[in-house]
Amino acid sequence: MTAMRVGRPAQISIPSVDRILRLASVAVLIAEHGREAVVAAVRAEAAALRARLSARAEAAPDESSAENIAARVSTRLASAATASLRPVFNLTGTVLHTNLGRASLPRAAIEAIAEAAAHGVNLEFDLETGRRGDRDRHLEALLVQMTGAERATVVNNNAAAVLLALNTLAQRREVLVSRGELIEIGGEFRMPEIMKRAGCRLVEVGTTNRTHLEDYAEAIGPATALIMKVHPSNYRIVGFSTSVDERALAKLAHARGLALISDLGAGALLDMRRWGLPHEPTAAETIAAGADLVTFSGDKLIGGPQAGIIAGRGALVERINRNALKRAVRLDKLRVAGLAAVLRLYSNPDRLAVELPLLRHLRRSRADIEAQARRLLARASQALAAHADVSAEPCESQVGSGALPGDALPSFCLAIRPRVACRQAQARVERLSQVLRALPVPVIGRVHSGALLLDLRCLDDEELLFAQLDRLRLPGGRKRH
Ligand SMILES: *Cc1c(COP(=O)(O)O)cnc(C)c1O
Repeated sequence: MTAMRVGRPAQISIPSVDRILRLASVAVLIAEHGREAVVAAVRAEAAALRARLSARAEAAPDESSAENIAARVSTRLASAATASLRPVFNLTGTVLHTNLGRASLPRAAIEAIAEAAAHGVNLEFDLETGRRGDRDRHLEALLVQMTGAERATVVNNNAAAVLLALNTLAQRREVLVSRGELIEIGGEFRMPEIMKRAGCRLVEVGTTNRTHLEDYAEAIGPATALIMKVHPSNYRIVGFSTSVDERALAKLAHARGLALISDLGAGALLDMRRWGLPHEPTAAETIAAGADLVTFSGDKLIGGPQAGIIAGRGALVERINRNALKRAVRLDKLRVAGLAAVLRLYSNPDRLAVELPLLRHLRRSRADIEAQARRLLARASQALAAHADVSAEPCESQVGSGALPGDALPSFCLAIRPRVACRQAQARVERLSQVLRALPVPVIGRVHSGALLLDLRCLDDEELLFAQLDRLRLPGGRKRH
């Protein structure tokens, strides 16, 4: 058991791994994390220490004491044991925030998911005949009922739904899309790229701001398989613009023996105006207008788990179901359970508005959110008193995920402004955001003209936020008043 010697400051030696493992404090760690993990952590800590010592001429002597190494091993193990995926407060003002996991699920869906997770389920098993069943069966009837489609199926997400539909119906053939609809939706989803991956040839029709029915008619050729309409999710062309609606496109497509598919993006199942929200084309309206197939997300305006829904003509959905790619993008039992629970809530829209967190958040009035902001203000001001001014101010939230683009929702926020000279303000606001992100339940706001705004639209657990604010220790470590 020779002590490991370090190169440069030769007088410093690192205790051996065995010696560290014999410490009582490390025995506790072994009981909790297992011997393998602890040995690996001790080795990693010793290696890190060796690297630090050889980089410096002077070494801090107690840095290499067995007890101090053990303490750092404990921290290392604790952080490795902490889940990387954690709940956060979404106070960004974007209700469907893709980076924050989009919709929060209703209680009924959470329970259904937990049940399915804990047990075997009849996912693909017919309880009556005892034979193999079909996983879509748990969702299809609900979707057919709500969309008026003949058949429906569900896959991993809407990107997969579009990919699968195009690959099934238009491989090695042409798909007509208006230039005004060749969208990129956050990150990697670009319609031209998806077309290529699906093995289709994209034929651009019209211009960015104006596309007429004749443009489509002229573009149809012997290789054309589909006309596609794409919801221009996260942007809106205003001013001098024309696009062709589904009804006219469906008529043209059908007269020429083609199918019309419509990627609705957010895809509402019910008319959002019923809750005072702007209108978003529903799946049922689009199918009634003549679209042969619609695709939309399960976790945007539907407010469910991540999923991509395909609904439309029976013959087309059947072809999609026979595509070998379908297996690669199907849903697991957890999301089948969660989505089915959400879809069942839709049968009672009044209950839906209360139980679906998404709708609850979208429907909150500015007055309601303002009252909450005023309740929180005194305590937030107190927690931050030494460093920043907090005020309650009006702001605007957005739906997010490309749903209802351009429609701002009047909201209210806590605006936090560091009390420093102007040119330092930006750095202080960034630092403040960082401090809030480091809380046990990270608080995510948005920075806007020198202030950190906490939009309270999606704040459910006020008490937990209070408790979080009380923990705030701001840079500088000065005492709170
Ligand atoms: C969001 C969106 C998609 C991608 O949907 P995911 O569910 O995120 O895969 C595709 N098309 C449109 C029009 C969208 O808005």
